[in-house]
Amino acid sequence: MKEFKFVNAKTVQEAVDVLAELGDKCKLVAGGTDAMLMIRDGKWNDLTLVNIRDIEELRGIKLEGDTVTVGALTRLSDIESSDILKEHAPCLWGAAQFFADPTNRHSATIGGNVGRCNTVGDTLPSLLCLDAVVTIVNKDGEREVPMSEMLLGPGRTACGPNEMIAKFTFKSQPHSAYMKYGRRRSMALSMAGSAVSIEVDDKGIVKWCRIGVGNAGPKAARAYKAEEAMVGVDLNSDKALEETMYKVIQEDISPRKKPRLSNWISGEYRRELIPVLTKRAARKAAFGECMLCKQEEA
Ligand SMILES: Cc1cc2nc3c(=O)[nH]c(=O)nc-3n(C[C@H](O)[C@H](O)[C@H](O)COP(=O)(O)OP(=O)(O)OC[C@H]3O[C@@H](n4cnc5c(N)ncnc54)[C@H](O)[C@@H]3O)c2cc1C
Repeated sequence: MKEFKFVNAKTVQEAVDVLAELGDKCKLVAGGTDAMLMIRDGKWNDLTLVNIRDIEELRGIKLEGDTVTVGALTRLSDIESSDILKEHAPCLWGAAQFFADPTNRHSATIGGNVGRCNTVGDTLPSLLCLDAVVTIVNKDGEREVPMSEMLLGPGRTACGPNEMIAKFTFKSQPHSAYMKYGRRRSMALSMAGSAVSIEVDDKGIVKWCRIGVGNAGPKAARAYKAEEAMVGVDLNSDKALEETMYKVIQEDISPRKKPRLSNWISGEYRRELIPVLTKRAARKAAFGECMLCKQEEA
């Protein structure tokens, strides 16, 4: 049986004091849904576990003016039931709807989803397309990192071993949506995901958009080339949209060729899937539940 030391941090100060003292000899545990797998699979050994799930000051969703703040310890179930996010960040709200199952959502936190930095993480494409700013705390204070610079690679983020994610901040973006493809509607990791935040004129021509894609490369990432190419595209026109989606976005993504598990899809298939998901997310973000998306989804 493995033995771990355990520290129960009740405040941010207590947590950053332990992190400053132990650095990479300790690991934060929020909801524990990924942490328990790391322990089970022998990836975490001889460590002190720092339980942060009771730090109330890091939990909650706030709207001040047009700025939304989501605390790192906010659970996916809180995101799923948040009227603020439903209205001001439907992409993030949508990501919570199909995240695991109710039991997992009741423990899993948004900070843990980003801290784990798995390319399949469902909140990552949305935080990228919202252009969220991540506040990271350490013993000396806090610093801000744009979400576009936060994810460094599988399991690696800009948050150092003596630091902790405190919150995510972004501007209200009512015209945003997330589309996930999984084997089932619940309890299925994303085989590919795409989140879009968009502004269109009254004819449906794209003024600007931001796209975050998941499981389309070693880490979730912005699709900058597709974002640029989307400006001026008529969202009502399949031809114009598909031209952009099927050609340009291919330059933004690099899905691994071989399926990771026997029942997972290949890179080639994912290359077909990402444009479809992004096209649907763009239309859903701009027009809401448009008939075209419904027909395509049927
Ligand atoms: C059965 C099952 C189904 C799942 N389904 C999905 C799914 O559908 N979609 C999906 O995206 N994920 C899924 N996951 C993965 C997992 O639930 C999520 O990644 C979850 O958001 C992790 O949050 P947590 O609070 O449990 O993190 P923890 O397990 O507590 O921590 C995860 C990692 O993040 C670090 N960490 C935690 N909090 C912070 C912080 N504040 N600052 C810095 N680092 C931190 C930890 O040290 C650890 O390395 C699933 C997992 C299981 C077991």
